Amino acid sequence: MSVSRRGFIKLLGAGTAALGLSRLGIDLSPTQAYAAGLKIEGAKESISICPFCSCCCNVLVHAKDGKIINVEGDPDYPVSGGGLCAKGASLKSLHNSPERLTKPLYRAPGATKWVEKDWDWMMERIAKRIKNQRDRDFKAKNASGAVVNRLESVFHLGSSQVSNEEAAVLHQMIRAFGIVHFDHQARICHSPSVPALAECFGRGAMTNHYSDLGNSDAVLIMGSNCAEHHPMTFRWINMAKEKGAVVVHVDPKFSRTSARSSYHVPIRSGTDIAMLGGMIKYILDNKKYFEEFVVNYTNASFLVGEKYSFKDGMFAGFDAAKGTYDKGAWAFEKDEKGLVKRDRTLKHPRCVINVMREHYSRYDLDKVSSVTGVSKADLLRVYEDFSATGKPNKAGAFVYALGWTQHSVGVQNIRASGLIQQLLGNVGVAGGGIAALRGEPNVQGTTDHALLYGYLPGYHSTPTAKYQSLGEYLKAYTPKSADPMSVNWWQNRPKYVVSLLKSWYGDNATKDNDFGYSWVPKMDPGEDYSHLYIFDRMYKDQIKGGLCFGHNPCQSVPNSNKVRKAWDKLDWLVIGEVFHNETTDNWRRPGVDPKKIKTEVFLLPSAYRAEKAGTISNSGRWHMWHYKCAEPLGKSRNMGEMFVEIMNRVRDLYLKDGGAFPEPITKADYPKTFDAEAVAKRINGVFTRETTVGGKTYQRGQCVPGFPNLKDDGSTTSMNWLYCGGFTEEAGNLAKRRDLAQTPMQAKIHLFPKFAWAWPMDRRILYNRASVDVNGKPYNPDKAVIEWKDGKWVGDVPDGGQPPMAMKDGVYPFIMHTEGHSQLFGPGREDGPFPEHYEPAETPLTVNPFSAQMHNPVMKVIKSDMDKLAEHGDPRFPIVLTTYSLTEHWCSGSETRNGPALLEAEPQQYIEMSHELAKEKGVKNGDVVIVESLRGKTQAVAMVTVRVKPFTIMGKTTHLVGMPFCFGWTKPKCGDTTNRVTVSIGDPNTSIPEYKACLVNVYKATKVTEL
Ligand code: SF4
Repeated sequence: MSVSRRGFIKLLGAGTAALGLSRLGIDLSPTQAYAAGLKIEGAKESISICPFCSCCCNVLVHAKDGKIINVEGDPDYPVSGGGLCAKGASLKSLHNSPERLTKPLYRAPGATKWVEKDWDWMMERIAKRIKNQRDRDFKAKNASGAVVNRLESVFHLGSSQVSNEEAAVLHQMIRAFGIVHFDHQARICHSPSVPALAECFGRGAMTNHYSDLGNSDAVLIMGSNCAEHHPMTFRWINMAKEKGAVVVHVDPKFSRTSARSSYHVPIRSGTDIAMLGGMIKYILDNKKYFEEFVVNYTNASFLVGEKYSFKDGMFAGFDAAKGTYDKGAWAFEKDEKGLVKRDRTLKHPRCVINVMREHYSRYDLDKVSSVTGVSKADLLRVYEDFSATGKPNKAGAFVYALGWTQHSVGVQNIRASGLIQQLLGNVGVAGGGIAALRGEPNVQGTTDHALLYGYLPGYHSTPTAKYQSLGEYLKAYTPKSADPMSVNWWQNRPKYVVSLLKSWYGDNATKDNDFGYSWVPKMDPGEDYSHLYIFDRMYKDQIKGGLCFGHNPCQSVPNSNKVRKAWDKLDWLVIGEVFHNETTDNWRRPGVDPKKIKTEVFLLPSAYRAEKAGTISNSGRWHMWHYKCAEPLGKSRNMGEMFVEIMNRVRDLYLKDGGAFPEPITKADYPKTFDAEAVAKRINGVFTRETTVGGKTYQRGQCVPGFPNLKDDGSTTSMNWLYCGGFTEEAGNLAKRRDLAQTPMQAKIHLFPKFAWAWPMDRRILYNRASVDVNGKPYNPDKAVIEWKDGKWVGDVPDGGQPPMAMKDGVYPFIMHTEGHSQLFGPGREDGPFPEHYEPAETPLTVNPFSAQMHNPVMKVIKSDMDKLAEHGDPRFPIVLTTYSLTEHWCSGSETRNGPALLEAEPQQYIEMSHELAKEKGVKNGDVVIVESLRGKTQAVAMVTVRVKPFTIMGKTTHLVGMPFCFGWTKPKCGDTTNRVTVSIGDPNTSIPEYKACLVNVYKATKVTEL
């Protein structure tokens, strides 16, 4: 009998069920002696999940007498194999930290200190604040007279750390209040991933999963330092490298990722599209693409309409007055039946592949090298190494994180990698795809549950004033395909939207009242309610109060001097947090007189991860349950309980006193108390009446077995169709599953199909039908993901159960796209169907050699007296600044700065600069320097290093410096946030700010005040 390490520890007495070891035929004496000495003896062991990066390492938590006494990696978790990085290893000290918030704290307007209050007092006052503001400012109609039923003067920010169950009840509450200024951390970390990946392949998620990286023949890491920031990812990249894969790190600075890669290529921040555009040209010119895949599965053969053009940096359809494109100019040409015209010979000049060839013909080695600062030899080396995977038996993966997303071209950075993967046939195959290494652990799940203004849970656009009835809304967002071979999965949208409304409003949602559609707030078409605009409107006194849970925007949002001033203007603020941070205590920041800050602050102490149960979803879409391992510290409570209590108290006030448009609140089917398991069932969805599916009859209240069974007639509920199938009558809560069983075929590619559950429908590798030829035979039989055998699919859950494309009833593999093909030409994004190189909003260049268009022509520009941009090539700010995280601190650092070992390892703000720049500036290693931009200054310790080198850009020496973004003034001697100097410029698709490239100057400090 084999015993896993975890099982062994349990057997030693840490677990509740201590079996006799003699039953296993093991000599007990040495192990019993060892057990007696174990610090975990007699402790209760439970499984939790690290609350930091999206690797979501499972941990074993041991609690004794109500206190967490030990945390260690769970060896059964396939991604980590029991490993933890420095942050995960600090979980015990973070949970037990004396810095934890353990009591509700109140700060009265103008007060100079916090006062302790009880929960009841706080909740009552919060509910009244929300109701009063809502009654005062609720807007039934917009300026055009359309019904909008919304509340603009209150915001919600944050909560990417909460469980899926907490997110679901939070989203329902926010919509019930009518709040439209509703955003969370995905906006500022990975918001471009969804529109970029969805435009390429149909879904906005990481295509494969972490352990699949071990199957790659080439890994190209760009915009990520995953060895430090997603450390368990690197376990699999190392495995690939040991098996012979080439691992390339393209990044502005040398890091541990570079050190463990086959080689490192430095690049000027903000020029990734130039480099990748050069690779597209290389692949096309040298015919390195996988032709069978390109012709059959991508839209390479589609004919682009005659209105399309690209001239000197601008795509057709630009409306200068509006500053946007009319995407109608990018439509495909269709025949009389409505089918897109195709030329499978790829000869037609308006075939996508030929339009693409023409577009990237400008991306020659000389130009790319002069803009990126990458030598021509290095460019060629990367192009050759990665394009070698354009063969049926090879696979290459891209790995990226915030180094790609946080740009004014964030979406198109990712799209560029999507184009390459389609050309090389690296989609749906083991070891291929695009690994979006998301930020916080549940930013995937909370994005799925849409804590973002523009979506309802499950990726349905938030209704706008343009669609006054449910019928109009569904017609606008439900695509039709004339091609019988296209599954066009979004034709099912009405079923998912109606099931969502039935979840929210229960029996009050009927066909006659459009299932409560009028109770959902409507945005104004084209209006932006995201972070940058929330703070701009707050700064301009248009927002009065808000809710901020698990977020530190006064540290982590760019141009933080403005953000902090905007925060000062609020009348009231409710914050849920684990520790004090720059946002909770903004009213007492250095240089400010608290007596002049009028904000009434309610600070609610939050339970930490191991003190609550629920599910979170890692970047690979694994939906996993974490258990409550100990009681919340002090009087802290989980956020789900807080949300539910706030909603119920506001509802009670409306039921008692009436008020503005109470129906969305009083008619809501909302839990009375928070129970994660019960909400998990609601998320999956239930039948509202007796229904028979596949010969089995389900009663009202029983779980819907999967999203194919959801209906648009009101007979089903589901708070999120993507998660429907994860909690069934037959198998229960599948997020709790920890079965490591594999077939030999699955074991070959590190597929763990029974560990936890993955959306959609437990599929582990998305688009896996593209890993086989049109007859269902795997392109690479040694690493087969699925195979059509004896009339059925074997392997992973196929992405669409229909037969292979060449067979009777066969369908195209990209089932989420209306035309069934992946999209090289993507007509749906705001800034063009192909990625194009534009300079960052602040650039050291005075011309863009690729076109006359310097910047992304439709980037989001915020205008206020505090939003200033340096001129192109501004001599006052000649240095490019890029930002990054550290292994020891997570995101804003507001949690990890409270871990003594973590703070000791990385104690204060620093700036990495080259020896050449240091010499030019008269700065020595360890000197404190001032870093200055047009928006502010901050202090940092100089780290003079060979990890950063000067670039030669268009013949001139250009310096680049790098700073971490995890420090803040609430920890003495830490220094303050880098965001005092960064810019409020947004990508046009998602408004993610351009953190990763702005212009600064650096000089030696004459007086040190912050470090
Ligand atoms: S931070 Fe990420 S890699 Fe480190 S222990 Fe936590 S989940 Fe694992």
